Amino acid sequence: MSYKVKLYHLYPDAMNLYGDMGNVIALAKRCQWRDIEFEVVDVKIGDSVDFSDADIIYMGGGQDRGQKIIQNDLAKRKTEIQGWIESGVVSLTICGGFQLFGKYFKTAEGEEIRGIEVFDTVTTAGDKRLIGNVVVDVSAATAKWAQKFRFKNLENPTATLVGFENHSGLTKLGPNTEPLGTVVSGYGNLGDGGYEGGWYKNAIGTYLHGSLLPKNPWLADHMIAVALMNRYGSPIPLDNLDDKLEEAAHKAAIERAKTAKTLSI
Ligand code: GLN
Repeated sequence: MSYKVKLYHLYPDAMNLYGDMGNVIALAKRCQWRDIEFEVVDVKIGDSVDFSDADIIYMGGGQDRGQKIIQNDLAKRKTEIQGWIESGVVSLTICGGFQLFGKYFKTAEGEEIRGIEVFDTVTTAGDKRLIGNVVVDVSAATAKWAQKFRFKNLENPTATLVGFENHSGLTKLGPNTEPLGTVVSGYGNLGDGGYEGGWYKNAIGTYLHGSLLPKNPWLADHMIAVALMNRYGSPIPLDNLDDKLEEAAHKAAIERAKTAKTLSI
């Protein structure tokens, strides 16, 4: 039997910063290397799109300007996307995308950019930009996912995510969204070195650009594994890949974060 994963990429033109497109490429490659068909549907403003065949919904980061441009179109898709997330569709949103999967992002000028409330979060621009390499301990989240899914790649999950943050928005988590992890090095959601990102059902939001998934291949595989289980109704074992390069990049990012300066301007 041949398997398939279908990803809906929200606003690839307006929401794509610091290599976020690399997340889609990493998912595509890790599927193709395993002979899993991978299809991408780009969703742009005004496109009439039905998400009923979506396994993964993805949105990258964007400047305030990009967020403003897409907000009305995204609002029209709110009920539909919320419904698919409720039913367990996998999702990954980065930085500005993460903010707009929450309730709102209030800019430095006081303008409120509406989000679609997948996450119980509110984001307000702070007076600094938080820039730098980030290492996040995600062991609490992955322990919960491992209990729920029992996938092979979660038996011994890498307990860290590495990436790069650049945001002014400060994101507060409400009770219905769990933190993705706690910051080992970097600023995180509130700039205080506390929580980083958030998750609800199979939706994950994070400030980590990088791109994220090439340097954290275990997370890419987790998303693929959940997507396949949703589509085919039972766990589909994923072939092992040679991840030496990816693991070296992950380790190098951890080492670099120990000495690299983070910057708030
Ligand atoms: N405009 C948002 C902020 O600065 C998002 C930036 C981003 O996606 N990198 O908080």
